Amino acid sequence: MNHNYDAIIIGGGASGLMCAVTAKQNNPKLRIAVIEKNDRVGKKLLATGNGRCNLTNCSIDSSKYIGSFGKQSEHILKRYDTAQLLYRFGKLGLLTFADSEGRCYPLSRQASSVLDVLRYACERCGAEIFCGENINSIKNSGGRFEVVTRENRFSASKLVIACGSKAAPKLGGTASAADYLKNLGHQLIPFSPALCPLKTDSGLIKSLKGIRAAANVSLIRSNRQIKSEHGEVQFTDGALSGICIFNLSLYAQKGDAITLDLLPDISEEELFKLLLRYQELFARRGVEDLFTGILQKRLALAILKASGIRDFSADCRSIGKEQLLRAANTVKAFSFNVTDRCGFEQAQCAAGGVRGSEIDETTMQSKVRKNLYVCGEAIDICGECGGYNLHFAFASGILAGEQL
Ligand SMILES: Cc1cc2nc3c(=O)[nH]c(=O)nc-3n(C[C@H](O)[C@H](O)[C@H](O)COP(=O)(O)OP(=O)(O)OC[C@H]3O[C@@H](n4cnc5c(N)ncnc54)[C@H](O)[C@@H]3O)c2cc1C
Repeated sequence: MNHNYDAIIIGGGASGLMCAVTAKQNNPKLRIAVIEKNDRVGKKLLATGNGRCNLTNCSIDSSKYIGSFGKQSEHILKRYDTAQLLYRFGKLGLLTFADSEGRCYPLSRQASSVLDVLRYACERCGAEIFCGENINSIKNSGGRFEVVTRENRFSASKLVIACGSKAAPKLGGTASAADYLKNLGHQLIPFSPALCPLKTDSGLIKSLKGIRAAANVSLIRSNRQIKSEHGEVQFTDGALSGICIFNLSLYAQKGDAITLDLLPDISEEELFKLLLRYQELFARRGVEDLFTGILQKRLALAILKASGIRDFSADCRSIGKEQLLRAANTVKAFSFNVTDRCGFEQAQCAAGGVRGSEIDETTMQSKVRKNLYVCGEAIDICGECGGYNLHFAFASGILAGEQL
């Protein structure tokens, strides 16, 4: 079937749906089509924030983003700041709250509320959504874009690429945006996993699988701290995970180290004195009980091993002062080599996408091809955890929608 529209939006996710709603709100006469490959829109949105959707943050700022569009995003983030985004969502019917760390969620604590207000707004204002569409080709000729799917042929004077990145393929993540934009003349930075666990070759990691521990976490390169975070570290099969690790993954490279301070509120000196006391307190117990009351047992064993203590049959008092100092030091700087990032399956976002220099940040229009717009994660920008990525997706969707 042939369909004629004023604008076609490829991708019915966060940015695409917001773009469609904004375009129709601005000009109800526009004929807008959203083309989605999944059998329903917003599949990834439903999985965000552990099903609660952390849709924005009270302190949105371009410094929270990496990528060639990171700095450029300033314009958009100022124009559509937290208050503006929440106001727009409020008008669509969504009530929200911010937690103690400034992360904003729907009051219902359900991501489906965010998706529903967007879906119902599309319905109300007449943006047409086509799901289960497999795009065969996208062409631009005679000033019109033609999108051919298995069953349909769509034509429009404006095209918006809002089909996200390769992150989380089970939720719809693909590299399609890169393919389409390349064919339309853009230069693409290959997608790579971001906001993901970091792999390590540490021999101790297997013994720690399943443990969660609060820590100050530092990313170290050539003995220099690149970035630090505080939060809960999760030890998984051969990798470190948790929000603080995800945030550091934005900056981490092979060969860096992740260093955990497992007792940030106690200095190394204080800990050493504490351990001297514990040697007496647990004098009749084995070495493995030295950290009783301080650390989880499996973590304590790993710390002792990493400090070079091998004889676990001996009692606590057998540990010499030097070894005790080393143990205190290991607790304060438990170090893991970074060998790689985990793959797209475990990534919440992707770095890479269309280069910032090829997008006009005041309109989201391509500088390479007129009437082509790009929004959301298809652009080379990635934010930290905390609502920054959805905020950018929505804000860039609004800006693109206003131009249609
Ligand atoms: C598990 C998880 C949790 C997350 N939690 C948060 C959070 O709490 N807060 C936050 O800020 N960010 C979160 N993110 C990141 C956030 O979801 C994304 O940054 C955001 O959804 C990007 O929006 P988008 O519109 O660019 O892409 P998407 O929301 O991914 O939408 C793209 C849409 O395009 C469709 N599509 C892809 N290829 C094609 C094609 N060829 N043809 C047609 N349609 C296509 C997809 O199916 C999808 O529906 C999370 C991500 C994951 C994976």
